[in-house]
Amino acid sequence: MNLHEYQGKELLSSFGVRIQRGIVADNHLKAVDAAKQLAVETGTGWWVIKAQIHAGGRGKGGGVKLAKSLQDVETISESIIGMMLVTPQTPPQGKKVHQVLIAEDVYYPGANEPEEYYMSVLLNRATGKNMIMYSTEGGMDIETVADKTPHLIFTEEMDPLLGLQAFQARKIAFNLGLSGNALKEMIKFVTSLYTAFVQSDATLFEINPVLKTSDDKILAVDSKVVLDDNALFRHKDLAVLRDFREESPIEVEANAAGLNYVDLDGNVGCMVNGAGLAMSTMDLIKQSGGEPANFLDVGGTADAKRVETAFRIILKDTNVKAILVNIFGGIVRCDRVAQGVIDAYKNMGDAINVPIIVRLQGTNAKEAQELLDNSGLDLISATEFQEAADKVQKVLA
Ligand code: GDP
Ligand code: MN
Repeated sequence: MNLHEYQGKELLSSFGVRIQRGIVADNHLKAVDAAKQLAVETGTGWWVIKAQIHAGGRGKGGGVKLAKSLQDVETISESIIGMMLVTPQTPPQGKKVHQVLIAEDVYYPGANEPEEYYMSVLLNRATGKNMIMYSTEGGMDIETVADKTPHLIFTEEMDPLLGLQAFQARKIAFNLGLSGNALKEMIKFVTSLYTAFVQSDATLFEINPVLKTSDDKILAVDSKVVLDDNALFRHKDLAVLRDFREESPIEVEANAAGLNYVDLDGNVGCMVNGAGLAMSTMDLIKQSGGEPANFLDVGGTADAKRVETAFRIILKDTNVKAILVNIFGGIVRCDRVAQGVIDAYKNMGDAINVPIIVRLQGTNAKEAQELLDNSGLDLISATEFQEAADKVQKVLA
C-alpha cells in the first residue's frame, strides 16, 4: 500500500524524524487557511504547494510550486487541484490531483547553501537484510545518479537482530560529508528513520530530497512510503490511510471479491488458477500474437459464482477481444470448472461479447471438454497448452 507524501511525512514525524511541515487541503480556500496557520506555527512567509498523487517527478511535471504570498497560495492551489498531472511516473494521461500539501518553504537563505541528499530504506533480497541507500546527489532521479555516477551511491546493511547501530549512523553522516551540528542532526535523522521503517512494517521509504537547511537542520522534504499489505492487520491506524482514488477501480473491485487481479494494457483477458500458471499463460498469450489484458489468479475454487465474478471483472476492460480460461484441475475437478464456466456464461447472457477459449487439463479433463463441446454455447475448448494458444491466435486474426 502506498501513502501520499503528506501521510508519509506524518508517519515519519510520529517517530521523531524531522520533516518539512505542511497541512493538506482539498480546495484553494482551505489552502489559504493552511498557509496562514503554517505562518503562525513556523514563521514562514513563503510556501510550497505540492500536488498529492501516488507518483514521483511532480516537480518536473508542474506539480510543485513556490508561493511567495497568500495570493500565490490561492491561485497556485486553484490551478493544481483538479488538474491531470503528468509526470515521468504517471500514465500518459496523468493522474487527477484531489489535494495539495501546503508546506513551509525550507530553502530559505542563511549561513550556508541548502544541500539535497538522497536516502531510501529497503530490503536487499539478495542478502535478506534491510539496507539504507544514500547519496550526496539528492533532488534528482536516483536512476540517473546510478547510471552516471554510481560511485556516489552508498549502501549500509543492517543486521536483523541488532538493527541500525550507532557506528553505522555515524558512517552515513560522514559519507555525506557532514560535520558539526549537521552531523549530529543526520545521525538522529537516520536512526529515527530506520526505527520508523521497522516499526511500521514498511517495504520502502524513499526520501528525496533529504535537506540540509542553510542553518544546518536535516529534514525530509519529500516522502515515498510503501507499507507491507500483509502486515496491515497490525497497523489499523495506517490501513485507513489507503486512498482508493489512486488505485485502478477494477483492481479494487477484484480484490474485494478475493481475486488476485492486476490490470494490464493488452487485449486478451485471462482467468487462471495459480500464480505460476497465470504467469506462463501471459507468456503464451504474447507468443500467440496477443497481449495480456490482465493477470488473474482465481485461486483454488473455480465455481460458477467465482467464474462469473471473474468474467465480469475481465469484461469491464473494453480492450478485451478474447478471454482465455486456463485451469489445471488438481484439487479442483475440471468437469466442475467446466460446469462453472457454462453456468456463468448462461447467467451472463449478452454480457459476454467476446470469444472464450477454455483450456482445462488435469482430473476429469475429458469429461470437461465434452461438457463444453455439448453446451451449445460459444465456448472454444482446448486441452493442450499450444492448442489453446493457436485458438487464441485464430480468434484475434
Ligand atoms: P517530486 O518532484 O515528486 O520528487 O517532489 P519533491 O517533494 O521532491 O519536490 C520537488 C522539488 O521541489 C525538490 O527537489 C525541491 O527542489 C523543490 N522544493 C521542495 N520543497 C521546497 C521548498 O520548501 N522551497 C523551495 N524553494 N523548493 C522546494
Ligand atoms: Mn522527490
